Amino acid sequence: MVAGATARIRAEHARLSELDSHCGDGDHGAAMLRAVERLEKVFAGTIPPEFKTCFEHAGWNVMEADGGASTALLGSFFLGMAEPLAAKAQSLDCRELAASFEAGLQAVRQQTKAKAGDKTMMDALAPAIEAFAQAAQAGREIAAALAAAAAAAKAGAEATREMTAAFGRARFLREKTRGYQDPGATSVALIFDGFHRGLVGQEGEFHHA
Ligand code: ADP
Ligand code: MG
Repeated sequence: MVAGATARIRAEHARLSELDSHCGDGDHGAAMLRAVERLEKVFAGTIPPEFKTCFEHAGWNVMEADGGASTALLGSFFLGMAEPLAAKAQSLDCRELAASFEAGLQAVRQQTKAKAGDKTMMDALAPAIEAFAQAAQAGREIAAALAAAAAAAKAGAEATREMTAAFGRARFLREKTRGYQDPGATSVALIFDGFHRGLVGQEGEFHHA
């Protein structure tokens, strides 16, 4: 899943920075690339077998990737994901992963007051987690739940195009951001698409999110 997400961000980082040049300071692709490359290192080679430790390492590494808003929030997401997990758990089923994702979202909500419609990464992240949790509740497998999450994140990211920014650097540009997808929401959509592709083994097939 992490390899899939890294591949998606690597393939699209120039577009992410281009979006951020309309909605912020143009560094979002570079920031996300640093973040996922750190994630890749955490999950490559000799990773700790416990998910809790893995997610904690992931969170701190992403948070230290750079000084930007998006990586701080994404780092909080992984740190939050670690919280509900038992210290020794070495496997996660779909419902446990849903609970972990939901705790990640809660952790992000403690860092930002951005709500649906504010044109931020929350417009992709919240629907993605909700879709994943619904699929888990319905007894679906992780791959199917990730497909639902990726579709919800994509729809959420696309909807930001017509929104006016109210948070982050983009809030200074307000109306000028209209017509451009929020960079952070676009990254979240790419990450969930990458999670899904990575899990089902389709990393090689890229399309625009
Ligand atoms: P920076 O704004 O520090 O340059 P990035 O360019 O990496 O950071 O990320 C910008 C993205 O981060 C935005 O598109 C938005 O999705 C997200 N973001 C920024 N500030 C906030 C905030 N206060 N709440 C939620 N999301 C935010
Ligand atoms: Mg930026």
